[in-house]
Amino acid sequence: MQTHQYDVVIVGAGGAGMRAALEASSEVRTAVISKLYPTRSHTGAAQGGMCAALANVEEDNWEWHTFDTVKGGDYLVDQDAAEIMAKEAIDAVLDLERMGLPFNRTPEGRIDQRRFGGHTRNHGEAAVRRACYAADRTGHMILQTLYQNCVKQNVEFFNEFYVLDLIVDHDLSAGQVPDGEEVNATGVVAYDLATGEIHVFQAKSIIFATGGAGKIFKTTSNAHTLTGDGMALALRRGLPLEDMEFFQFHPTGLAGLGILLSEAARGEGGILRNGNGERFMERYAPTIKDLAPRDIVARSMANEVREGRGAGPNKDYVLLDLTHLEPAHIDAKLPDITEFARTYLGIEPYTEPVPVYPTAHYAMGGIPTNVEAEVLRNSDDVVKGLYAAGEVACVSVHGSNRLGTNSLLDINVFGKRAGRTAAAYAKTAKFIDLPENSAARVVAQLEEIRTRPDGERVSDVRKELQETMDANAQVFRTDESLKQALADIRVLQERYSRVSVQDKGKMFNTDLLEALELGFLLDIAEVTVIAALNRKESRGGHFREDYPDRDDANFMQHTMIYRRPLEFEVDTVVDDAPLTPKSAFTRSDRFDDYQVVLGSKPVTQTRYEPMERKY
Ligand SMILES: Cc1cc2nc3c(=O)[nH]c(=O)nc-3n(C[C@H](O)[C@H](O)[C@H](O)COP(=O)(O)OP(=O)(O)OC[C@H]3O[C@@H](n4cnc5c(N)ncnc54)[C@H](O)[C@@H]3O)c2cc1C
Repeated sequence: MQTHQYDVVIVGAGGAGMRAALEASSEVRTAVISKLYPTRSHTGAAQGGMCAALANVEEDNWEWHTFDTVKGGDYLVDQDAAEIMAKEAIDAVLDLERMGLPFNRTPEGRIDQRRFGGHTRNHGEAAVRRACYAADRTGHMILQTLYQNCVKQNVEFFNEFYVLDLIVDHDLSAGQVPDGEEVNATGVVAYDLATGEIHVFQAKSIIFATGGAGKIFKTTSNAHTLTGDGMALALRRGLPLEDMEFFQFHPTGLAGLGILLSEAARGEGGILRNGNGERFMERYAPTIKDLAPRDIVARSMANEVREGRGAGPNKDYVLLDLTHLEPAHIDAKLPDITEFARTYLGIEPYTEPVPVYPTAHYAMGGIPTNVEAEVLRNSDDVVKGLYAAGEVACVSVHGSNRLGTNSLLDINVFGKRAGRTAAAYAKTAKFIDLPENSAARVVAQLEEIRTRPDGERVSDVRKELQETMDANAQVFRTDESLKQALADIRVLQERYSRVSVQDKGKMFNTDLLEALELGFLLDIAEVTVIAALNRKESRGGHFREDYPDRDDANFMQHTMIYRRPLEFEVDTVVDDAPLTPKSAFTRSDRFDDYQVVLGSKPVTQTRYEPMERKY
């Protein structure tokens, strides 16, 4: 076992992690730990753009951007956070430009901007051009630019190191912290893929920037590695997760595959048509049509299919029509995604419409933080020395539905804030001694799976998990479907306790790591479904057919979900107000050796009163 000491340790080398690293490493000794080589992080797969009200091509301002974000999130957005993001967006884009990011340009040489869903002028009057982009490779350019700047600044990277535990001085999952006592994050335990060796990192500040959890679903735009690690590690240490029921289904995944075709395709003029050739979005969102927010478009598409107006031999998808666009325009603005259609479906987008269907895309929920990126341990108190930013976090700027291009923005704005806050804290804080056996839990877990002679296969359990999530917790949900998903998850959790791997070696044992990632997926799926069962209303990405309306009287609040030991009285464990309406199921959902407990956190409203959401 090796030990290391840094002022700031950042877990994750995607956009959020590297933006934080640039900030922190200019002030204090900083290390970045990443299970992937940094430029393989999912940020690099982002296509369409990053928004900021630069007003380079038409009138715009950050206040309209704030409003669109709040309305897009169906009013579950914390408005103070959204305002910060929209205001700081402009500098976030200019920072990247100064670092060398090659944005597309207008003929006058300014950063060009294009349309994206839900971004409007003057509170919904018409679509506005707000997304800055580099063809359909915006995320790739952001990731490369940040990485180059990290290298230039001599940031230390530990690549292909998997963080498998968070060390805290009070393990909240074991019980309640006495009143007035602090909880401190003191380190992380990591596994070096190349050697199988364990490394313990002691740090004054730890930033989680581990990205999303799309692999709980079968049909997803997310990379294989997006297994919710950071969220699950926090949950296992008794920290809450916020708003886990809200998962975004992106309208235009390649049908049957889930590979993403960016919303930029519609931003550049693409049109969705049903099997009859009808531009159906005119019925669902008469003003901005195909550029309505994703939750609305995804549901409209699924509804067309359910009502028998799908396209194709089984009428099970709709069509994205780009055939009216000039081939030269397609080549200039959408080169990668049109190539995906050719490669994976054998479709020529110049002349044929592309089959598409919603695909699991983005976790709106995650580790709760305040606007300084400090992690919350309940609705008020922070964990000292722990920060989170990017898709793993919930600030919450996306509420119940994220607008396209707001995530590349979020990772830059809140990644920077996390780096700044973590460095400032590290400058004044002292190292806290780690417990002697701080790696014991991880070592035991790894050895148990590695040495188990035979048992359940990781791929079988994962496949069944993803199938039940697709069938029961996707665009349309009901009490019945969610209970089915939870029952299936419980069976799979039991089977997981008997999981084994074929590779018994120590070096590059990806088999073993996939087994651990499956454990994270099961944890995240469980809380996603329980939170979805509890939220008996429809809002943003969470649509309950049995409760089709938004219910502000009972549910205008964030969900906070915790793990606690069985013996704990839930009312005393969680000091947040319980979610209303109360029900036995949601207050104490017992399983195995822990219980899942739900609490709530108020939504911060500043200037926008909730209204009915129409587009
Ligand atoms: C196909 C696709 C297209 C998208 N297009 C857009 C777009 O155009 N505009 C937009 O705004 N958003 C887009 N998004 C969303 C956006 O790209 C992501 O939400 C965002 O990039 C996430 O960044 P991140 O830094 O939080 O995480 P990621 O970029 O996913 O990075 C996560 C990092 O954490 C590390 N990590 C994870 N677990 C561990 C562990 N256990 N130990 C050590 N390291 C770990 C990984 O190695 C990785 O470096 C898109 C997403 C997808 C999937």
